[in-house]
Amino acid sequence: MSVLPVTSQADPHPAALHEPCVLLKLGEIVLKGRNRQQFERLLHDNIRRSVRDLGIGIRVWQREGVVVVRVAGGEAGGFGAETAADMIAERLTRVMGVARICRAIRVAKDPQAAVEAAVHLVAGRTGAFAVRARRRDKRFPVTSAELAVMIGARIQREYGLPVNLKSPDTTVFVEVDQHEVFVFTQGWAGQGGLPVGMSGRALVLMSGGIDSPVASYRMMRRGLRCSYLHFSGMPLTGPESVYKAYGLVRQLDRFQGDSRLFVVAFGNAQRRLASSGAGRLQIVAQRRLMLKTGEAMARRLRATALVTGDSLGQVSSQTLTNITALDDAVDLPILRPLIGWDKTEIISEARRIETLAISELPDQDCCSLLTPRQVETRARIEDLRRIEARLDADDLAEELAAAAQEHVPGRG
Ligand code: ATP
Ligand code: MG
Repeated sequence: MSVLPVTSQADPHPAALHEPCVLLKLGEIVLKGRNRQQFERLLHDNIRRSVRDLGIGIRVWQREGVVVVRVAGGEAGGFGAETAADMIAERLTRVMGVARICRAIRVAKDPQAAVEAAVHLVAGRTGAFAVRARRRDKRFPVTSAELAVMIGARIQREYGLPVNLKSPDTTVFVEVDQHEVFVFTQGWAGQGGLPVGMSGRALVLMSGGIDSPVASYRMMRRGLRCSYLHFSGMPLTGPESVYKAYGLVRQLDRFQGDSRLFVVAFGNAQRRLASSGAGRLQIVAQRRLMLKTGEAMARRLRATALVTGDSLGQVSSQTLTNITALDDAVDLPILRPLIGWDKTEIISEARRIETLAISELPDQDCCSLLTPRQVETRARIEDLRRIEARLDADDLAEELAAAAQEHVPGRG
């Protein structure tokens, strides 16, 4: 078998190439032109950001429809190249915009090299196997079917394993690319969606509850970079809800990196609303003041939308009339990705993205303070405006935003 010249200049010994790497399949690549360039640039930035703290140097290569993430030569951060590639692959399962993550071996663009890599990967496996080969470069000297047969025959000879194309225990994937061949058996589903940043920036109103973290996850997945605003009941409550918000943002940070959390002590403002005679409207009036503060904060952060965890009818503040009264409080759009979700659906998503355990920790939520005996389910906007006029709610919102404390819950 002749060894073909390899066009990549990065590899001094292409014939001996056997490099652990990570291959990413992209999601919505129907995008064209400038959108596609932006998609790729943001995705590459986000990939680098997601592994930054590992101390492993990486190279990111864009290919036709796939991204190759390589461990930079001699920069495996003290780990072996295999371990480094495993650690990178694990991080990339949380990067938005990636549909599938494959832990691959990169070998020279030569049929024999592909066969050797496949034999290496199947070592120690039991049960039936299948080989699936495809070529992104049709100039390769053997067809996909021929390559699959060559590899299959060699594995059978080497290990005596049976072939089962319908339900194999092990599948060997072989992908012939422009400069090399990728061989792998392992793959994981990615998050899908769009790279964070592709759709701009939003500010998430984040309680310590179950819903708002899930709402944030869904919007990050549609390409929004999220910052977070939490209202604690301090000084009327302890700081427990702040610890929860901090923990939740840390979990969500795995999906975007460089998250910012702002905390507002809301207790005194809540008391002022109560003494302005909010009565049955206390909850809705509080939520409007939160949104107004969020809008002031969003302006400072150049965020162009607010995100909440509202779900229609879930609690009394979330009737259609009350939601309409909330929309009236601000000019910015309020995104509510969970509006049509059932609580059971929200809970299972919270479990999947690993925020549920933190949300379930006990705390005293600021909304449980000063709760009226009866909550208005049909708040009238004029009544709310009248209450707000008594305490200059817009100025108060500006003051609260200015006094917000910033926390940066990085990866730990
Ligand atoms: P969650 O589980 O997100 O707390 P919830 O079902 O408890 O939601 P509400 O308490 O009515 O519903 O809150 C609705 C939305 O208002 C929340 O999803 C969140 O976006 C926002 N919100 C409520 N309380 C706070 C808070 N203390 N700080 C920031 N945002 C809040
Ligand atoms: Mg809540």
